[in-house]
Amino acid sequence: MREHNIVVLKGDGIGPEIVDEAVKVLDAAGKKYGFKMNYDYELMGGCAIDETGEPLPQKTVDACKKADCVFLGAVGGPKWDGVPGNKRPEAGLLGIRGALGLYANLRPARIFAPLKEASPIKDSITEGNLDIMIVRELTGGIYFGERGTGVENGEEYAYDTEKYTVSEIKRIAKTAFEMAMKRNKKLTSVDKANVLDSSRLWRKTVIEMSKDYPEVELNHMYVDNCAMQLVRNPKQFDVIVTSNIFGDILSDEASMISGSIGMLASASLSDGKFGLYEPIHGSAPDIAGLGIANPLATILSAAMMLKYSLDEGEAAADIENAVNAALEKVRTPDIYKDGFKKVSTSGMGDEVIKNL
Ligand code: NAD
Repeated sequence: MREHNIVVLKGDGIGPEIVDEAVKVLDAAGKKYGFKMNYDYELMGGCAIDETGEPLPQKTVDACKKADCVFLGAVGGPKWDGVPGNKRPEAGLLGIRGALGLYANLRPARIFAPLKEASPIKDSITEGNLDIMIVRELTGGIYFGERGTGVENGEEYAYDTEKYTVSEIKRIAKTAFEMAMKRNKKLTSVDKANVLDSSRLWRKTVIEMSKDYPEVELNHMYVDNCAMQLVRNPKQFDVIVTSNIFGDILSDEASMISGSIGMLASASLSDGKFGLYEPIHGSAPDIAGLGIANPLATILSAAMMLKYSLDEGEAAADIENAVNAALEKVRTPDIYKDGFKKVSTSGMGDEVIKNL
Protein backbone atom coordinates (compact mmCIF):
# COMPACT_ATOMS: atom_id res chain seq x y z
CA MET A 1 0.00 0.00 0.00
CA ARG A 2 1.25 3.53 -0.80
CA GLU A 3 2.11 5.46 2.38
CA HIS A 4 2.42 9.23 2.74
CA ASN A 5 4.14 10.80 5.75
CA ILE A 6 2.95 14.29 6.53
CA VAL A 7 3.50 16.73 9.37
CA VAL A 8 0.26 18.26 10.63
CA LEU A 9 0.30 21.66 12.32
CA LYS A 10 -3.18 22.23 13.73
CA GLY A 11 -2.29 25.67 15.09
CA ASP A 12 -4.71 27.89 17.01
CA GLY A 13 -8.32 29.06 17.06
CA ILE A 14 -10.40 27.05 14.58
CA GLY A 15 -7.20 25.33 13.33
CA PRO A 16 -7.70 22.07 15.27
CA GLU A 17 -11.42 21.82 14.34
CA ILE A 18 -10.93 22.30 10.60
CA VAL A 19 -7.80 20.14 10.41
CA ASP A 20 -9.65 17.24 12.10
CA GLU A 21 -12.24 17.32 9.30
CA ALA A 22 -9.57 17.34 6.59
CA VAL A 23 -7.81 14.38 8.26
CA LYS A 24 -11.14 12.51 8.34
CA VAL A 25 -11.59 13.14 4.61
CA LEU A 26 -7.97 12.16 3.80
CA ASP A 27 -8.39 8.87 5.66
CA ALA A 28 -11.67 8.12 3.88
CA ALA A 29 -10.06 8.91 0.49
CA GLY A 30 -7.09 6.70 1.42
CA LYS A 31 -9.40 3.79 2.14
CA LYS A 32 -11.12 4.18 -1.21
CA TYR A 33 -7.99 4.72 -3.31
CA GLY A 34 -5.58 2.37 -1.51
CA PHE A 35 -3.15 4.68 0.29
CA LYS A 36 -2.36 5.29 3.94
CA MET A 37 -1.67 8.68 5.50
CA ASN A 38 0.76 8.77 8.45
CA TYR A 39 0.41 11.94 10.54
CA ASP A 40 3.07 13.49 12.73
CA TYR A 41 1.36 16.19 14.82
CA GLU A 42 3.74 19.06 15.69
CA LEU A 43 3.38 22.49 17.27
CA MET A 44 3.50 25.90 15.59
CA GLY A 45 2.01 29.28 16.46
CA GLY A 46 0.33 30.23 19.75
CA CYS A 47 0.03 26.63 20.93
CA ALA A 48 3.80 26.25 20.46
CA ILE A 49 4.44 29.47 22.42
CA ASP A 50 2.32 28.12 25.30
CA GLU A 51 4.18 24.80 25.34
CA THR A 52 7.76 25.79 24.48
CA GLY A 53 8.02 29.61 24.55
CA GLU A 54 8.77 29.64 20.78
CA PRO A 55 6.31 30.04 17.87
CA LEU A 56 8.38 27.64 15.73
CA PRO A 57 10.27 25.02 17.78
CA GLN A 58 13.31 23.44 16.09
CA LYS A 59 11.67 20.02 16.57
CA THR A 60 8.84 21.15 14.27
CA VAL A 61 11.25 22.39 11.58
CA ASP A 62 13.23 19.12 11.73
CA ALA A 63 10.06 17.01 11.45
CA CYS A 64 8.80 19.09 8.47
CA LYS A 65 12.10 18.65 6.63
CA LYS A 66 11.80 14.87 6.92
CA ALA A 67 8.14 14.66 5.86
CA ASP A 68 6.66 14.25 2.35
CA CYS A 69 4.83 17.55 2.93
CA VAL A 70 3.24 19.73 5.59
CA PHE A 71 -0.41 20.44 6.35
CA LEU A 72 -1.42 23.51 8.36
CA GLY A 73 -4.64 24.82 9.94
CA ALA A 74 -4.10 28.44 11.03
CA VAL A 75 -2.18 30.29 13.71
CA GLY A 76 -2.65 33.35 15.89
CA GLY A 77 -5.20 34.92 18.17
CA PRO A 78 -5.76 37.72 20.69
CA LYS A 79 -4.17 35.69 23.50
CA TRP A 80 -0.72 36.32 21.96
CA ASP A 81 -1.31 39.92 20.76
CA GLY A 82 0.96 41.35 23.48
CA VAL A 83 3.91 39.10 22.56
CA PRO A 84 6.87 40.89 20.82
CA GLY A 85 6.91 40.70 16.98
CA ASN A 86 9.52 37.98 16.48
CA LYS A 87 7.85 35.76 19.09
CA ARG A 88 4.29 36.12 17.78
CA PRO A 89 2.44 33.10 16.34
CA GLU A 90 2.62 34.65 12.84
CA ALA A 91 6.44 34.69 13.12
CA GLY A 92 6.16 30.88 13.06
CA LEU A 93 4.46 31.11 9.69
CA LEU A 94 7.16 33.30 8.12
CA GLY A 95 9.83 31.15 9.80
CA ILE A 96 8.53 27.87 8.40
CA ARG A 97 8.25 29.31 4.87
CA GLY A 98 11.87 30.43 5.05
CA ALA A 99 13.14 27.23 6.71
CA LEU A 100 11.50 25.04 4.07
CA GLY A 101 12.50 27.24 1.08
CA LEU A 102 8.91 27.66 -0.10
CA TYR A 103 9.33 30.00 -3.08
CA ALA A 104 6.13 29.32 -5.04
CA ASN A 105 2.72 30.24 -3.73
CA LEU A 106 -0.27 28.62 -5.40
CA ARG A 107 -3.71 30.08 -5.01
CA PRO A 108 -6.63 28.61 -6.88
CA ALA A 109 -9.57 30.91 -7.52
CA ARG A 110 -12.64 28.96 -8.45
CA ILE A 111 -16.37 29.13 -8.29
CA PHE A 112 -18.22 26.09 -7.01
CA ALA A 113 -21.44 25.95 -9.04
CA PRO A 114 -23.75 25.61 -5.99
CA LEU A 115 -22.15 28.76 -4.49
CA LYS A 116 -22.18 30.88 -7.62
CA GLU A 117 -24.56 33.44 -6.10
CA ALA A 118 -21.85 34.25 -3.50
CA SER A 119 -19.48 35.47 -6.24
CA PRO A 120 -19.44 39.24 -6.79
CA ILE A 121 -18.87 38.59 -10.52
CA LYS A 122 -22.00 38.38 -12.68
CA ASP A 123 -23.08 34.91 -13.72
CA SER A 124 -23.15 36.05 -17.36
CA ILE A 125 -19.36 36.56 -17.14
CA THR A 126 -18.41 33.35 -15.33
CA GLU A 127 -21.26 31.14 -16.61
CA GLY A 128 -21.35 29.80 -13.08
CA ASN A 129 -17.94 28.25 -13.30
CA LEU A 130 -14.37 29.40 -13.14
CA ASP A 131 -11.05 27.80 -12.23
CA ILE A 132 -7.84 29.87 -12.22
CA MET A 133 -4.52 29.04 -10.58
CA ILE A 134 -2.25 31.91 -9.59
CA VAL A 135 1.43 31.03 -9.14
CA ARG A 136 3.15 33.80 -7.18
CA GLU A 137 6.90 34.08 -6.58
CA LEU A 138 7.22 34.18 -2.80
CA THR A 139 10.80 34.78 -1.70
CA GLY A 140 12.23 37.41 -4.07
CA GLY A 141 11.44 40.78 -5.63
CA ILE A 142 10.67 44.06 -3.91
CA TYR A 143 9.62 42.54 -0.56
CA PHE A 144 13.17 41.23 -0.13
CA GLY A 145 15.18 43.74 -2.21
CA GLU A 146 17.50 46.50 -1.06
CA ARG A 147 15.60 49.17 0.81
CA GLY A 148 16.33 52.27 2.79
CA THR A 149 15.29 55.62 4.15
CA GLY A 150 17.17 58.85 4.55
CA VAL A 151 17.09 62.62 4.16
CA GLU A 152 18.19 64.45 1.00
CA ASN A 153 18.23 68.25 0.70
CA GLY A 154 16.23 68.44 3.92
CA GLU A 155 13.53 66.09 2.62
CA GLU A 156 12.82 62.57 3.86
CA TYR A 157 12.90 59.75 1.26
CA ALA A 158 12.42 55.99 1.19
CA TYR A 159 13.02 53.35 -1.48
CA ASP A 160 12.53 49.62 -2.14
CA THR A 161 14.08 47.65 -5.00
CA GLU A 162 12.58 45.09 -7.35
CA LYS A 163 15.36 42.68 -8.34
CA TYR A 164 15.11 39.20 -9.85
CA THR A 165 17.86 36.86 -11.00
CA VAL A 166 17.41 34.53 -13.98
CA SER A 167 17.53 31.47 -11.71
CA GLU A 168 14.78 32.88 -9.45
CA ILE A 169 12.58 33.50 -12.51
CA LYS A 170 13.40 30.10 -14.02
CA ARG A 171 12.39 28.10 -10.95
CA ILE A 172 9.02 29.85 -10.52
CA ALA A 173 8.37 29.63 -14.28
CA LYS A 174 9.09 25.89 -14.13
CA THR A 175 6.52 25.49 -11.34
CA ALA A 176 3.98 27.39 -13.44
CA PHE A 177 4.64 25.51 -16.71
CA GLU A 178 4.36 22.20 -14.87
CA MET A 179 1.15 23.35 -13.22
CA ALA A 180 -0.21 24.29 -16.66
CA MET A 181 0.72 20.82 -17.98
CA LYS A 182 -1.42 19.29 -15.19
CA ARG A 183 -4.32 21.60 -16.06
CA ASN A 184 -5.50 23.14 -19.36
CA LYS A 185 -2.01 23.87 -20.76
CA LYS A 186 -2.46 27.64 -20.86
CA LEU A 187 -0.08 30.02 -19.06
CA THR A 188 -0.30 33.80 -18.72
CA SER A 189 2.88 35.49 -17.49
CA VAL A 190 2.11 38.84 -15.88
CA ASP A 191 4.67 41.65 -15.74
CA LYS A 192 5.18 45.35 -16.39
CA ALA A 193 7.71 44.91 -19.19
CA ASN A 194 6.71 48.21 -20.82
CA VAL A 195 8.28 50.05 -17.85
CA LEU A 196 10.49 47.83 -15.66
CA ASP A 197 13.86 46.24 -16.50
CA SER A 198 13.14 43.49 -13.96
CA SER A 199 9.96 42.68 -15.89
CA ARG A 200 11.81 42.63 -19.23
CA LEU A 201 14.20 40.01 -17.80
CA TRP A 202 11.17 38.15 -16.39
CA ARG A 203 9.51 38.05 -19.81
CA LYS A 204 12.68 37.07 -21.71
CA THR A 205 13.36 34.24 -19.24
CA VAL A 206 9.80 32.90 -19.35
CA ILE A 207 9.93 32.90 -23.19
CA GLU A 208 13.19 30.92 -23.10
CA MET A 209 11.68 28.43 -20.64
CA SER A 210 8.66 27.97 -22.90
CA LYS A 211 10.83 26.05 -25.39
CA ASP A 212 10.87 23.17 -22.87
CA TYR A 213 7.05 23.15 -22.76
CA PRO A 214 5.88 23.24 -26.40
CA GLU A 215 2.42 21.98 -25.43
CA VAL A 216 1.74 24.97 -23.18
CA GLU A 217 0.17 28.01 -24.84
CA LEU A 218 2.02 31.00 -23.34
CA ASN A 219 0.88 34.62 -23.43
CA HIS A 220 2.06 37.78 -21.65
CA MET A 221 0.01 40.48 -20.01
CA TYR A 222 0.83 43.74 -18.25
CA VAL A 223 -0.25 43.70 -14.63
CA ASP A 224 -2.66 46.64 -14.97
CA ASN A 225 -4.43 44.91 -17.85
CA CYS A 226 -4.51 41.62 -15.90
CA ALA A 227 -6.19 43.32 -12.92
CA MET A 228 -8.87 44.51 -15.34
CA GLN A 229 -9.21 41.23 -17.25
CA LEU A 230 -9.73 39.25 -14.01
CA VAL A 231 -13.09 40.96 -13.56
CA ARG A 232 -13.90 41.60 -17.24
CA ASN A 233 -13.21 38.15 -18.68
CA PRO A 234 -11.75 35.82 -16.01
CA LYS A 235 -12.58 32.71 -18.04
CA GLN A 236 -9.64 33.44 -20.39
CA PHE A 237 -7.18 32.36 -17.65
CA ASP A 238 -5.92 28.92 -16.70
CA VAL A 239 -2.57 29.43 -14.90
CA ILE A 240 -1.13 32.89 -14.14
CA VAL A 241 2.52 33.29 -13.10
CA THR A 242 3.85 36.51 -11.66
CA SER A 243 6.25 38.22 -9.27
CA ASN A 244 5.88 38.53 -5.51
CA ILE A 245 4.26 41.99 -5.36
CA PHE A 246 2.03 41.59 -8.44
CA GLY A 247 0.96 38.14 -7.22
CA ASP A 248 0.17 39.46 -3.76
CA ILE A 249 -2.36 41.89 -5.22
CA LEU A 250 -3.74 39.76 -8.08
CA SER A 251 -4.24 36.64 -5.94
CA ASP A 252 -6.37 38.58 -3.45
CA GLU A 253 -8.40 40.05 -6.30
CA ALA A 254 -8.86 36.64 -7.93
CA SER A 255 -9.69 34.85 -4.70
CA MET A 256 -12.63 37.13 -4.08
CA ILE A 257 -14.22 35.79 -7.25
CA SER A 258 -15.22 32.72 -5.22
CA GLY A 259 -17.04 34.96 -2.76
CA SER A 260 -16.28 33.16 0.50
CA ILE A 261 -13.12 33.09 2.62
CA GLY A 262 -14.05 29.72 4.10
CA MET A 263 -13.63 28.08 0.66
CA LEU A 264 -10.14 29.17 -0.35
CA ALA A 265 -7.20 26.75 -0.34
CA SER A 266 -3.52 27.44 -0.94
CA ALA A 267 -0.14 25.79 -1.27
CA SER A 268 3.45 26.97 -0.97
CA LEU A 269 5.93 24.80 -2.83
CA SER A 270 9.70 24.36 -2.92
CA ASP A 271 11.81 22.20 -5.24
CA GLY A 272 10.43 18.87 -6.31
CA LYS A 273 7.07 18.00 -4.86
CA PHE A 274 7.53 19.27 -1.32
CA GLY A 275 5.00 21.82 -0.13
CA LEU A 276 2.99 23.33 2.70
CA TYR A 277 -0.79 23.30 2.30
CA GLU A 278 -3.19 25.56 4.21
CA PRO A 279 -6.47 27.45 3.91
CA ILE A 280 -5.95 31.16 3.17
CA HIS A 281 -8.10 32.30 6.08
CA GLY A 282 -6.79 32.87 9.62
CA SER A 283 -7.59 31.24 12.93
CA ALA A 284 -10.99 32.98 13.25
CA PRO A 285 -10.77 33.40 17.05
CA ASP A 286 -14.30 34.90 17.06
CA ILE A 287 -15.83 31.50 16.24
CA ALA A 288 -13.19 29.11 17.64
CA GLY A 289 -14.58 26.23 19.67
CA LEU A 290 -18.19 26.81 18.54
CA GLY A 291 -18.14 24.01 15.95
CA ILE A 292 -19.42 26.34 13.22
CA ALA A 293 -16.25 27.00 11.17
CA ASN A 294 -16.35 26.06 7.51
CA PRO A 295 -13.80 23.25 6.99
CA LEU A 296 -13.99 23.28 3.17
CA ALA A 297 -10.94 25.50 2.52
CA THR A 298 -8.92 23.06 4.62
CA ILE A 299 -10.44 20.00 2.95
CA LEU A 300 -9.68 21.56 -0.46
CA SER A 301 -6.11 22.25 0.70
CA ALA A 302 -5.86 18.53 1.48
CA ALA A 303 -7.06 17.78 -2.07
CA MET A 304 -4.34 20.09 -3.45
CA MET A 305 -1.78 18.25 -1.34
CA LEU A 306 -2.88 14.90 -2.78
CA LYS A 307 -2.73 16.28 -6.31
CA TYR A 308 0.48 18.31 -6.30
CA SER A 309 2.70 16.62 -3.69
CA LEU A 310 1.49 13.05 -3.26
CA ASP A 311 0.55 11.96 -6.81
CA GLU A 312 -2.97 10.99 -5.74
CA GLY A 313 -4.74 13.01 -8.42
CA GLU A 314 -7.74 10.72 -8.68
CA ALA A 315 -8.51 10.99 -4.96
CA ALA A 316 -8.00 14.77 -5.15
CA ALA A 317 -10.54 15.13 -7.96
CA ASP A 318 -12.98 12.92 -6.04
CA ILE A 319 -12.69 15.16 -2.95
CA GLU A 320 -13.29 18.29 -5.05
CA ASN A 321 -16.38 16.72 -6.59
CA ALA A 322 -17.57 15.59 -3.14
CA VAL A 323 -17.24 19.18 -1.87
CA ASN A 324 -19.37 20.35 -4.78
CA ALA A 325 -21.97 17.67 -4.05
CA ALA A 326 -22.01 18.49 -0.32
CA LEU A 327 -22.67 22.15 -1.13
CA GLU A 328 -25.81 21.15 -3.04
CA LYS A 329 -27.33 20.00 0.26
CA VAL A 330 -25.70 21.40 3.37
CA ARG A 331 -24.11 24.67 4.47
CA THR A 332 -22.08 25.90 7.44
CA PRO A 333 -23.40 29.22 8.85
CA ASP A 334 -20.91 31.41 6.89
CA ILE A 335 -22.38 30.27 3.54
CA TYR A 336 -25.90 29.38 4.74
CA LYS A 337 -28.88 30.15 2.51
CA ASP A 338 -32.59 29.29 2.89
CA GLY A 339 -33.46 25.91 1.47
CA PHE A 340 -30.26 24.21 2.66
CA LYS A 341 -29.61 22.19 5.81
CA LYS A 342 -27.44 24.07 8.30
CA VAL A 343 -24.59 21.88 9.58
CA SER A 344 -21.67 22.11 11.99
CA THR A 345 -17.98 21.86 11.09
CA SER A 346 -18.02 18.08 11.56
CA GLY A 347 -21.42 17.80 9.83
CA MET A 348 -19.82 19.33 6.71
CA GLY A 349 -16.87 16.91 6.94
CA ASP A 350 -19.30 13.98 7.22
CA GLU A 351 -21.27 15.18 4.18
CA VAL A 352 -18.09 15.42 2.06
CA ILE A 353 -17.16 11.85 3.06
CA LYS A 354 -20.71 10.66 2.24
CA ASN A 355 -20.23 12.02 -1.31
CA LEU A 356 -16.79 10.49 -1.92
P1 NAD B 1 -9.57 35.41 9.83
O1 NAD B 1 -9.41 34.89 8.46
O2 NAD B 1 -9.16 34.53 10.94
O3 NAD B 1 -11.09 35.82 10.09
C1 NAD B 1 -11.75 36.84 9.32
C2 NAD B 1 -13.28 36.60 9.42
O4 NAD B 1 -13.62 35.47 8.61
C3 NAD B 1 -13.77 36.29 10.82
O5 NAD B 1 -15.05 36.86 11.01
C4 NAD B 1 -13.88 34.78 10.84
O6 NAD B 1 -14.85 34.28 11.75
C5 NAD B 1 -14.24 34.47 9.40
N1 NAD B 1 -13.70 33.17 8.99
C6 NAD B 1 -12.40 32.86 8.70
N2 NAD B 1 -12.28 31.58 8.40
C7 NAD B 1 -13.51 31.04 8.48
C8 NAD B 1 -14.02 29.73 8.29
N3 NAD B 1 -13.24 28.69 7.94
N4 NAD B 1 -15.35 29.52 8.49
C9 NAD B 1 -16.15 30.53 8.83
N5 NAD B 1 -15.74 31.80 9.03
C10 NAD B 1 -14.41 32.04 8.85
O7 NAD B 1 -8.75 36.78 9.89
P2 NAD B 1 -8.45 37.75 11.13
O8 NAD B 1 -9.64 37.82 12.03
O9 NAD B 1 -7.91 38.97 10.53
O10 NAD B 1 -7.26 37.03 11.91
C11 NAD B 1 -7.43 36.21 13.08
C12 NAD B 1 -6.06 35.65 13.46
O11 NAD B 1 -5.58 34.78 12.42
C13 NAD B 1 -4.98 36.71 13.65
O12 NAD B 1 -4.20 36.35 14.78
C14 NAD B 1 -4.19 36.65 12.37
O13 NAD B 1 -2.86 37.08 12.53
C15 NAD B 1 -4.25 35.18 12.07
N6 NAD B 1 -4.05 34.83 10.64
C16 NAD B 1 -3.41 33.67 10.41
C17 NAD B 1 -3.24 33.22 9.11
C18 NAD B 1 -2.57 31.90 8.90
O14 NAD B 1 -2.42 31.13 9.83
N7 NAD B 1 -2.18 31.57 7.67
C19 NAD B 1 -3.74 33.97 8.03
C20 NAD B 1 -4.44 35.15 8.31
C21 NAD B 1 -4.59 35.57 9.63
